[in-house]
Amino acid sequence: MIERKVVVRVAEGLHARPATEFVKLARSFAADIEIVRGDKTANAKSPVKLMLLGVKEADEIVLRANGSDEAKALDALCSFVSLAQSREEASKPDAKVRQAPVAERVGAAERERATTLHGLAASEGVAIGPSFFFALEPVCALRREIGKDEIDTEIAKLRLAVDAVNSDLAERGRKAVAGTDEAQIIDALREISRDVEFVQRVEARIRAGQDAVSSTHESGEQLAAEFEGLEDPYQRARGDDVRATARKVALSLQGKTDATLADAPPGSVILARDISAFDLAGASLERFGGLICTTGGPTSHVAIIARSYGVPAVLGLEVDVERLRSARVAALDGATGEVALDPDSATERRFREQVARDAARKSDLQAYVAVEPRTRDGRRIEIAANLGTLKEIDAALAVGAMGVGLFRTELLFMEHRRPPTEDEQAQVYARLAEAFAPAPVIVRTLDVGGDKPTPGLDFPHEDNPFLGWRGIRMCLDRPEVFKPQLRALLRAAVHGNVRVMLPMIADIEEIRKTKRLIEECRAELEAEKVPCGEFELGVMAETPAAALIADELAREAAFFSIGTNDLTQYVMAADRQNPKVANLNRADHPAVLRAVDLICQAARKAGIWVGVCGEAAARPELIPKFVNLGVTELSMAAASILRAKKCVTEL
Ligand code: PEP
Ligand code: MG
Repeated sequence: MIERKVVVRVAEGLHARPATEFVKLARSFAADIEIVRGDKTANAKSPVKLMLLGVKEADEIVLRANGSDEAKALDALCSFVSLAQSREEASKPDAKVRQAPVAERVGAAERERATTLHGLAASEGVAIGPSFFFALEPVCALRREIGKDEIDTEIAKLRLAVDAVNSDLAERGRKAVAGTDEAQIIDALREISRDVEFVQRVEARIRAGQDAVSSTHESGEQLAAEFEGLEDPYQRARGDDVRATARKVALSLQGKTDATLADAPPGSVILARDISAFDLAGASLERFGGLICTTGGPTSHVAIIARSYGVPAVLGLEVDVERLRSARVAALDGATGEVALDPDSATERRFREQVARDAARKSDLQAYVAVEPRTRDGRRIEIAANLGTLKEIDAALAVGAMGVGLFRTELLFMEHRRPPTEDEQAQVYARLAEAFAPAPVIVRTLDVGGDKPTPGLDFPHEDNPFLGWRGIRMCLDRPEVFKPQLRALLRAAVHGNVRVMLPMIADIEEIRKTKRLIEECRAELEAEKVPCGEFELGVMAETPAAALIADELAREAAFFSIGTNDLTQYVMAADRQNPKVANLNRADHPAVLRAVDLICQAARKAGIWVGVCGEAAARPELIPKFVNLGVTELSMAAASILRAKKCVTEL
C-alpha cells in the first residue's frame, strides 16, 4: 500500500461533477483507493462517499492505494486534484500561460478517459479490433390464424426455410473441423432440420389454419418436451437441439439469421449481453481479440474461460445494448476494466501502444519458463495451471506450468451432448496425467449446480443455486453420475501423478462418504480385473464452514486447495456473478484473508500442504500474503504463470 498527501486545487473542491470524474478515473485502476480528509475516510470509487467527504479547494487530503497498479493510480489521481486549475489561479493574468502545458496534458488525458467506459476487469490483456456483436435474435412467434387460401403459400415458405437452414448448416458443417464439438453440434441440428417428423408436425399445424412461424415454434417446443420426458439422459439432451433447430427455421421464415460466434472474424472483439457455456463450447475462443459483456464478473465462468485462453475480457459493463450493437471498433483493457467503443484517434493510439507494451512485457517474461521459483529464503513454490479442457495443455506447458493445480471437469460434462462415459473420462484424465508427468495433476470432481446447465443432468429450479444442490452435494446424491467419475480417476491413477479434490466441502461426512464410495469403486474395478492406482484425496477449502472446521478436515484430507472465488462470495455474502456487489467481492478483504489464515494454520498443525486455485492466486499483490501464510502451491490460468514465477523469485 502506498499513500500520498496532496493539496486540492480543483475549483470549489470535489463537488458533483469533479467528484464523478475523479471516481471514474479511480475506477479505471484495479487498486483499492481511499481518500482521507481529517479523520474521515472514503472509498475513492464511490461518488456518494466522496461527495459526503466534502473535500474543498485548498484542503489537504491523503490518497491511499493498494493493488497492482497503485503507483500509476496515485500519479493519475494526484495530478487530477493538484494540477486542475483553481479559480484563483485562473483569474491571474499570466496563470493560463504558466499552467497551460501541464493542465492541457492532464485535461486531454481526462477527456480521453471520460470518453471511455468502465466495467469489471475480468481477464488481463489489452486488445483493439473490429467489433462483433453477439446476440441471439428474438423469435416473435405470435399465433396468427390463416385462411384456406394461404395454406399452400405458408407450406411453400416453410419448405424454403427448411431448405435454407439445411444448406446453411451443411455449409457450416463443411467448414467445421471433423470430430470437434462444433462439428457435432452442427450435425445434430442438421439431422433434426431434415427430420420428416418435425416437418410433418409443422405442416399439420399450418393445414389446421395456423401461420408457419408459430407452427414451427410450437411444434419445436412440443417435440423438445417429448425428448425431455425420456429416460435416457442422452435423448433428453436432444430437446435443446430441437429447440435450436426450430428457432433457426422460424427465424429464416422471418427473413433473419441467427448469430453464432463461429461467424466472428479472427482478432475481433466480441460484444454481448451474455454468452452461455453452450455458445462458448462451440467457439474457438483463442481466435478472438477480446470479450466484452454487460453481465458477469471476474470470477464468473465466462471470465475463467477467457483467462484460460489468454483472451482479454471486461464483464459487467453498464452500457446500453444498442450502443454495443452499433459499435464498429472496440478496445478494452482487461486489467483495469476500461473499454472504448469506436475510440477517437488519441484513444486508439493509446490502446495500440498498450498492446505493443504488453507484447514486449510478455516477451521479457519468457526468461522464467524453465524457472522453478523459490523465495529468497529458499521456499519452493509450485506454480501450476488451472485447466478446463485438454486443448489448454500446450499453452500451460509452453509457460512451464509445474503441474495442474485444478482441472475443472465441468466443461467435459457441458461440451458433450450427454454426460461423458467412464471410458471417455478415463482417457481424458490419463492424457492429462501423461502430459504433465511426473508433475502432479489435481482433478476436481464435478462441480455443477442449477446455475450451470449440464446436458443430461436434471436440476430442480432453485432460488439460490449457489447455496443449493451443487458440487459434492449433488454428486453424493447421484452415485450413477459420481461413481463413473471416481472409477475413471482410479483407472487414470495408474500413471502415479493423479490427485483428486472435492469441491464445496462443508461437512466432514462429505469427505468420509466419498472415501467409502472410492473404496466401493476400487473393489468393483479389482473384481473386474481393471487396473487401477492410488490417488491422494484433497479438499477444496471454499466454504466458510470448511475454514471453520479446517482442523477436523485436515485430519481426513491429504491437502487443501483454497478456492478463493467461492470462499470470497460466501464469506462476504456477495454473489460472484453480480457486478453490483463487485466492490464487496474482494479476495483481499481482511475477512477473506482471515479465513485463508485459519485454513493454513490447520494445515500446518496437521502437516498437510495448502495451495490456492481461485483467481486470487495469480494476483501479484496477494502472492506475498499467501506465501507468508504458508501456501506452497499457486494454481492459475496459463496466461498468468510467468508473472507469478517472477513474483515469487522476488519475494
Ligand atoms: C473457486 O471457487 O475459487 C474455484 C477455484 O472454483 P470455481 O471457480 O470453479 O468455483
Ligand atoms: Mg469454487
